[in-house]
Amino acid sequence: MSNESSIWELVVLSGKGGTGKTSVTASLAALADKPVLADCDVDASNLPLVLDPRPRRRDAFTGGQIARVKPGHCTACGKCEELCRFDAIYFDGPGNGRVPRTFRVDASACEGCGVCADFCAEHAIKMTPADTGEWFISDTRFGPLVHARLRPGRGNSGKLAALVREQARQATRETGRHLILVDGPPGVGCSVMASLTGATRVLAVTEPTPSGEHDLERVLALARHFEISASVCVNQHDLNPAQTARIERRAAELGAVIAGRIPYDLAVTDAQRQGRPVVEHDHGPAAQAIIQLWKNISPTFTN
Ligand code: SF4
Ligand code: SF4
Repeated sequence: MSNESSIWELVVLSGKGGTGKTSVTASLAALADKPVLADCDVDASNLPLVLDPRPRRRDAFTGGQIARVKPGHCTACGKCEELCRFDAIYFDGPGNGRVPRTFRVDASACEGCGVCADFCAEHAIKMTPADTGEWFISDTRFGPLVHARLRPGRGNSGKLAALVREQARQATRETGRHLILVDGPPGVGCSVMASLTGATRVLAVTEPTPSGEHDLERVLALARHFEISASVCVNQHDLNPAQTARIERRAAELGAVIAGRIPYDLAVTDAQRQGRPVVEHDHGPAAQAIIQLWKNISPTFTN
């Protein structure tokens, strides 16, 4: 059984989507020794597309509240519709013997503020837990994968990302594993922070462009804020060697370790199309670079 302190947790981040972060994470999953995998990009979970998961547990995620009209109690006074700032209440609910139509809450528009429930004189509105998404534990050929899906338009991505990480830690304890690989969300929002706090190391994957440099600076600032050591990898570095050199200089100034460079390689796209990590797909330049990257950042366990 592992304990919390023996868990080594790598979070792979990028300042924005499309840098190859998930491709890199999938290959690290193939290279790592018995990892537990977590996809914290709960708005657009992509790691499952490459790892062919077989779900073995599926649970609802409820976060926040949502209003529901009890049609039997509604007198159709219209007060709730008048007060709702989010236009979430419609006059198209079922009749109830007293009125031919009642009011109804559109669950996808309700923000859960509770104003309608507070002011309904008939106590006809009930606040209930919002069905915000779902999360899964799946088996993959590399190890357990915890992933999730947030319903479109629903908030709470930070809470769901935190839940995914907690479940990954739980799976690590239960399976006696020591390594968690986290595919983090793009950007630097609250789900990124939830993916990051308490991690062992950040791997920032970036592209050799001015915006890549800017995004990387934001990711490294976050890592510094949480006092987590950071490594950097420039993906498709050969598309702009001068910008790559500039990014690596800047990353070193900000205290990050330059852990690797991955060249442009059509095999990466081929592998994606086939739903496989590139290190399983072939032994070309990108696969070799990722193997070296993993050698540079992987932990050594002594147990
Ligand atoms: S405030 Fe209450 S009684 Fe009035 S329309 Fe809304 S739900 Fe019905
Ligand atoms: S809880 Fe707030 S957002 Fe939802 S229906 Fe009531 S007033 Fe509108």
